[in-house]
Amino acid sequence: MKALVKAEAAVGLEMQDVAEPDVGINDVLIKVKRTAICGTDMHIYNWDDWAQKTIPVPMVVGHEFVGEIVDVGSNVNDFKPGQIVSGEGHVVCGRCRNCMAGRRHLCAHTSGVGVNRPGAFAEYVSLPMSNVWVHRKGIDLDVASLFDPLGNATHTALQWDLLGEDVLITGAGPIGAMAAAVCRHAGARHVVITDVIDSRLDLAVKLGATRGVNVTREKIEDVVAELGMSEGFDVGLEMSGNASAFNSLLANMCHGGKVSILGIPSEDTKIDWNLVIFNMLTLKGIYGREMYETWYKMSVMIDNGLDISSVITHRLPFTDFQQGFDAMNAGEASKVILNWDV
Ligand code: NAD
Ligand code: ZN
Repeated sequence: MKALVKAEAAVGLEMQDVAEPDVGINDVLIKVKRTAICGTDMHIYNWDDWAQKTIPVPMVVGHEFVGEIVDVGSNVNDFKPGQIVSGEGHVVCGRCRNCMAGRRHLCAHTSGVGVNRPGAFAEYVSLPMSNVWVHRKGIDLDVASLFDPLGNATHTALQWDLLGEDVLITGAGPIGAMAAAVCRHAGARHVVITDVIDSRLDLAVKLGATRGVNVTREKIEDVVAELGMSEGFDVGLEMSGNASAFNSLLANMCHGGKVSILGIPSEDTKIDWNLVIFNMLTLKGIYGREMYETWYKMSVMIDNGLDISSVITHRLPFTDFQQGFDAMNAGEASKVILNWDV
């Protein structure tokens, strides 16, 4: 089969012919239909420090996908060929304390699809049945391929009560923009989002943010005054990984504000702990998605009219993958979909 492979310890990816993945007795074999390029794939493509430390080569990469089940192992009774599915990209051990308690997103031994085990940028991917999420018939395939990053946005946003609340999101990348859509869908009032790139803010506003703030030109404090919010934001979602963005978020929370942190900082981040202590802020780190409460909420929201499709800026046949990775690296793209149905 064709697959996008990190073939050697260097920048780039290659399209190669590789063996089809094995299907164990508890596994499901999926014919991939659409994939999406994630920031993690860009780290692997660009072969940065994290990728060099993390990815064994050769490795088939990719974890955001939708496809159709074509085969199941002998232990698998709940899934059948023909179903349209995505995969939870975190494969958990099932045996640690958290897994045994049903808190699988807190597994102590998570392994990543397309990171630690063969991924989905391929004609076929094999996954444990416990990682399979069945979509309803007729779901838009491009949207279905985004359930992994939409899940990051959803998991981060739905940590807190959002109905009637004012939300500040730092970082209008694809995940920040989709989080704006989720917050509005869940009944938030003002959803203010910051970035340093106008096109990203425009996209976030299209998805539902009520106000974009380009922090190179505007101050969040001025927008707070403009909106008549005298006490700051009730909920903060850090989705940039940028230290100054995180600090500006903390400075604009109301007393007792709730903050969830998804963005991964690329450097040591110093924060003003006095803001956390004296304003009694709650900070919570977020990793991945809840298995499978986040997936349930996403499916219901999409069925109830949550529209995230405008986060897709590029649709390409998988053979044009290089164009997709170039667009991501050039900062022109939000979500790039590769079509494997060609
Ligand atoms: P992204 O890099 O596309 O988006 C980050 C955005 O932050 C960019 O648009 C960038 O312009 C913006 N930004 C940079 N400096 C800023 C500043 N000073 N103020 C405001 N915005 C600023 O990333 P993404 O794919 O949307 O993901 C968002 C973050 O979440 C990333 O840090 C990513 O690594 C992280 N992530 C975490 C998990 C997890 O499980 N914790 C999963 C996926 C992604
Ligand atoms: Zn575990």
